[in-house]
Amino acid sequence: MLPSTHRPAYVEVSLDNLKHNLQSEIKSVPEGTAVFAVVKANAYGHGLVRVAKAEVEYGASGLCVTTLDEALEIRNAGVKVPILVLSITPVEHAILAVNNDISLTIGSLDWLKQAVNEDISKLKIHIGIDSGMGRIGFREKADLVEACNFIKDNPDSFIPEGLFTHFATADNPDETYFLKQVKRFKEMKADLPIDFKYVHCANTATALWHKDLAINMVRFGIGLYGLNPSGTDIPEVPFELKPALSLHSQLVFVKKIDKGEKVGYGATYTSEKPEWIGTVPIGYADGWLRRMQGYDILINGQKCPIVGRICMDQFMVKLPEELPVGTKVTLIGKDGDKEITATDAAQYAGTINYEILCCLTDRLPRIYK
Ligand SMILES: *Cc1c(COP(=O)(O)O)cnc(C)c1O
Repeated sequence: MLPSTHRPAYVEVSLDNLKHNLQSEIKSVPEGTAVFAVVKANAYGHGLVRVAKAEVEYGASGLCVTTLDEALEIRNAGVKVPILVLSITPVEHAILAVNNDISLTIGSLDWLKQAVNEDISKLKIHIGIDSGMGRIGFREKADLVEACNFIKDNPDSFIPEGLFTHFATADNPDETYFLKQVKRFKEMKADLPIDFKYVHCANTATALWHKDLAINMVRFGIGLYGLNPSGTDIPEVPFELKPALSLHSQLVFVKKIDKGEKVGYGATYTSEKPEWIGTVPIGYADGWLRRMQGYDILINGQKCPIVGRICMDQFMVKLPEELPVGTKVTLIGKDGDKEITATDAAQYAGTINYEILCCLTDRLPRIYK
């Protein structure tokens, strides 16, 4: 979608807060542990290239993305650090990874064999282990050993850069399943026929609450953006996470309606008395979910409820009094002494803070402060 710069609606990203969050994490890992910044999905809505460059400047050892396209976008923007694609890339595109010094995730021997058939040379690979996430990676030790031997026998084709797993429940105070995965990962990685530069299993939740599992690389995602992966305040975080993203707009239209008048599609809202209603030019096409109907947003430091259904491009809000067109509106972020976080919005919408951020579309320009 085209970024709309001639409309008062934008995402503001605090570079100071991104820096604080990354550097707090770097300080908390043992010396020699690489902190990779996860910038997949448009840097969780914060803007891929700008954030990737900022993270490298602030000390990230490398970057993680989900697709080869994201990796190429960053590489083409002149970023020099290692870039790891965390999901499976079709073999026919592996040549692009080789040519752009991008590392790929491998989950099967078949993939490796096909790459050799395609004459791939010096491809940097991270072997994924499925220790219980049930998503991608080797599940059986024998298969993993066979793949490692195949890599060893094809030294011109592959550079074994990493070995990793991913946890399903690292944010859960009940550690039963987490510990089961840790045990499985340890069994799988023991006594393999090749060595890997990086061994890693820590996403944000693992990095925050299971520091001993940093090994020599962590993949720090949601924490970079200042949000608690558990979506609550529990477990408590070891250092302050400062939310980096805010979402702002303005009132573009203000009117007084009589008692008993309706607002929005479906005429779902009826005023109980004469009321001031403002219109805000953000809708579900910007990623402000239709489910946010009824949610309180901030105007002039006060909470004001969204009334009626959220439209594709606009929504209406009940104002405490007549306010001028152009008054600032905060959907996520601070206004005065009040704050709405992506976690608050997620709780209201019945989802997680990650999804609230990722839903914000390109139509909203990103402004960096
Ligand atoms: C997305 C992802 C991460 C980052 O997760 P956060 O919870 O945001 O820290 C790390 N590793 C893998 C494999 C991922 O897919």
